[in-house]
Amino acid sequence: MDLYRTKISETIDAPVKIVRLKDGREIKKVSDKRLLRKGGADIRGYVQLFFFFITLWIGVDFYLFMNALSKGVPAVVTRPPGVEGFLPISALMSLRYFILTGIINHIHPAGFFIFVAVIFISVFMKKGFCSWICPVGFISESLYEFGGKLLGRNFTLPKWVDIPLRSLKYLLLAFFFISVSVLSAQELGSFIHSDFNKVADIKMYMFFAHISTFSIVIIGLLLILSVFYKNFWCRYACPYGALLGISSLISPLKIRRVERSCIDCGLCSQACPSGLPVDKLDSVSSAECNACYSCVEACPVKNTLNLSLRSGEKGLSQKQYAFLLLGIYFGVVGVAVLAGLWQNSIPFNEYLILFKNLGAISHAF
Ligand code: SF4
Ligand code: SF4
Repeated sequence: MDLYRTKISETIDAPVKIVRLKDGREIKKVSDKRLLRKGGADIRGYVQLFFFFITLWIGVDFYLFMNALSKGVPAVVTRPPGVEGFLPISALMSLRYFILTGIINHIHPAGFFIFVAVIFISVFMKKGFCSWICPVGFISESLYEFGGKLLGRNFTLPKWVDIPLRSLKYLLLAFFFISVSVLSAQELGSFIHSDFNKVADIKMYMFFAHISTFSIVIIGLLLILSVFYKNFWCRYACPYGALLGISSLISPLKIRRVERSCIDCGLCSQACPSGLPVDKLDSVSSAECNACYSCVEACPVKNTLNLSLRSGEKGLSQKQYAFLLLGIYFGVVGVAVLAGLWQNSIPFNEYLILFKNLGAISHAF
């Protein structure tokens, strides 16, 4: 079916015409103004802000909870279950434990459900978690946009540095994956129910509350590098992103380019924060594509670049993508809440005892 005859006009035969320049070069141009794309609203930006504020809210609640714990007085707020979203290794163990035993653990159940929701998103909708939900991704993006405005451009590492460095996140993922895979259901159960796992969120809080100079230097370095290089942390070091990238390889939704109406302007590739050669591909299968829509928004020709199931289809608008993404995420969280599996089962009194002995609680293995 001819997309341009059916979707835009009965009169447009060829969406692209060849124009010869004075110097003899030939370039492609859109044959009709009606084929030019108008920019849409930045829905992704709003969704990112929404999750960023949810993260801040979780942070404030957890701070109040920790404050009460350190003073040994009843907490004015309950511990926010969402904090478990920052314990991906514990969540990976919970998922494997669930696969082996069919049991959803009650120590960090919210972490398990968030992890499952995020994997679902990447399997069906590419690595959208990274560019739509993750607060680290949002900070990373804000930093490189700031860097781009400040310096007039962002930088890219030479290929001989970029390619080996990109494997770092996969090596980290392999390390965690193999470490978890070799554990039996019994060993996983002992770890999940250990005091160490119970206080994993508290230990994470203490790490930031009493951060060492070394950690400040490393985090500061990552922040500075993120100003110069697009998504530095996500591109090179995040094992969570590596896992989502691999699971996103089977996503039926992909960025797809319609060769017939493409004018080879290269704007999509220029806009891609992952440095993918979008203008040379029919569809983007890469594990680095995070469904950020930057290429789609940059493309000047209607219905030429889309996130779609098949080439030539109209594809999902940002609004539709957001609707599906939020639907999967809050659908999974909603199931957990309705089933009474969102809050963990550790009473505040047990937290008080665990907190008093925090220094003595070490790794379970
Ligand atoms: S710009 Fe396009 S190809 Fe690049 S990461 Fe974003 S959605 Fe994927
Ligand atoms: S932005 Fe990319 S897909 Fe769109 S016309 Fe230019 S080269 Fe083709």
